Amino acid sequence: MFFPKIPLITWTPKGLYCAAGDFYIDPHRAVDVAIITHAHSDHARRGSKKYICEESGAELLKTRLGKKIEVETYQYGESFHLGKVKISLHSAGHILGSAQVRVELDGEVWVASGDYKRDRDPSCDPFESVPCDIFITEATFGTPKFVWQKNINHGQMMHDWWLENEKQGINSILFGYSLGKAQRILAELHPYAHKPVIIHHTIDELTDCYRRQMRNMARTEVLNERELTGELILAPPSILKENWVHLLGEYKTAFASGWMQNSGRGGYDRGFVMSDHADWNDLNLTIKETGAKKVYVQHRDGALVRHLKRQGIEAHPIADLDIELFTPKPGENLVLI
Ligand SMILES: [Zn+2]
Ligand SMILES: [Zn+2]
Repeated sequence: MFFPKIPLITWTPKGLYCAAGDFYIDPHRAVDVAIITHAHSDHARRGSKKYICEESGAELLKTRLGKKIEVETYQYGESFHLGKVKISLHSAGHILGSAQVRVELDGEVWVASGDYKRDRDPSCDPFESVPCDIFITEATFGTPKFVWQKNINHGQMMHDWWLENEKQGINSILFGYSLGKAQRILAELHPYAHKPVIIHHTIDELTDCYRRQMRNMARTEVLNERELTGELILAPPSILKENWVHLLGEYKTAFASGWMQNSGRGGYDRGFVMSDHADWNDLNLTIKETGAKKVYVQHRDGALVRHLKRQGIEAHPIADLDIELFTPKPGENLVLI
């Protein structure tokens, strides 16, 4: 029985795993050593013995997972070893401290992208292309219908909307996720905001982490139950269910998300197409720039895998790295090819 050599990184029930260095990348369950690409809850989960992340994202990780977790940090580009494996973290441009993970053994280089984007974002470092042999890419917006308009001044557009409503004595509620999107909005608004932005309490502590990393955020005031007129309120979508919302009087709503591009306004008065993920063109550009000869696609893999194959790039869904495919069953002899 012949089995292919086990790849440097495999896909396991706990997530991406590097056996040679005995570590996981963004594990789904508690493990001994977890390299975390960023602090979003689908990437950073509780219970692991040790976390490794980029320095500027460490406080966000602790805010999310608990102050007592053990965290080892490295700066972008700084290399370290786990076993014989050489590792370094490189900016993913997704949220503060977000990192692609570069993994090297015996001259073979893998990069696991985590979530990334290439659009300008004043709240975090810009994306860095990292050359590699094998690239594991996310593809949240991995179909050709998702193409962002470039060079949009989001801060000015959002501020114009706020002013327009304020003139009519109406509040503006802008929805965005509390980590990453909310702080990007505050950073985009920083040059424009003429008074403090009212923020939901779930956004407050995370925003302070950004300020401590010297990111310029618009001035903020935490939402309390007082009457408001002509204010901009930044909140996660869940607040409309809270029982004090009647205090907001007359208001207009907007949602800031890449999903706004193709879903109409989805029940909001206004949609700002503002994504923290790469669009179709940037996914393809990034893959090209890495020079990878083999690409594995996570999340929405179908269209991107087909498109890459048509261009002669060896592309696979992440399931093709399933550790089971490289593990002999009992009774089978392992011969590496
Ligand atoms: Zn994310
Ligand atoms: Zn994600």
